[in-house]
Amino acid sequence: MSRRLLLLGGTTEALRLARDLGPEAIYSLAGLGRVPDDLACQVRVGGFGGADGLAAFIAEHGIELLLDMTHPYAAQISANAARAAQLAGIPCWALRRPGWQAGPWDDWREVDGWSELVAALFGFRRPLFTLGREPLAHLHEIPTHQHWTVRCLQSQPSVARADILGARGPFSLDGERALFERLGTDVLISKNSGSQSTEPKLQVARERGVPVLLLRRPLLPAVDREFTEPDALREALLQ
Ligand code: NAP
Repeated sequence: MSRRLLLLGGTTEALRLARDLGPEAIYSLAGLGRVPDDLACQVRVGGFGGADGLAAFIAEHGIELLLDMTHPYAAQISANAARAAQLAGIPCWALRRPGWQAGPWDDWREVDGWSELVAALFGFRRPLFTLGREPLAHLHEIPTHQHWTVRCLQSQPSVARADILGARGPFSLDGERALFERLGTDVLISKNSGSQSTEPKLQVARERGVPVLLLRRPLLPAVDREFTEPDALREALLQ
């Protein structure tokens, strides 16, 4: 891995790779989560200022390969990465983690954005939101027959008809079972991240016959090389 890399992170897989990179590589985070302070590679935090800003950063730091290992729903930075690599004339490789697939016992319903989600939720009373902070902007719109639980990275005080739980994966199957039981969850709301660390909630929904509303994945740009497995990406880096 002697090429000068810029690794766009924000996922477990990116952090794992960053742990193996040397001081010539740069690991970049948006700054929403924890910033590790025990890596051998350089770590930078915060936006670049769009595709142009990222292209300028690439040129300024002599980056030879851009690695997009951001979350599958982080569509803006992935679009910026593809464009910036083109502008800077370097290759962009991406980890495109496959989504989860429904099995015969799953009741999964895909929704396109917030208004469709709210409409699909109407018949339920105890939704459990596990798709980040977006529901927090809608706490004043909760119908009177519902009580929401929003699980996101940082807890907040409860409001009328909603509790906000701060929690960070990985989540265990037993822990998820206990949570659904305690809350009386009758519908689960999630992104289709495809991550193993957040998958147990889907098994619990299946066991309990709880429907799952999945926010549809955004379209991501084509890049020079796409990998579905982090190990395949690592191998390609070593060649
Ligand atoms: P986004 O909407 O695609 O990006 C918003 C802006 O944040 C980008 O335009 C960029 O700012 C900056 N940014 C994003 N990732 C960056 C990175 N790795 N390094 C430097 N700047 C970055 O992304 P998002 O959905 O807000 O997610 C932000 C970060 O959280 C991503 O790194 C993602 O991997 C991680 N994450 C996202 C989710 C999710 O569900 N969306 C879940 C888990 C983790 P500039 O345009 O100024 O460069």
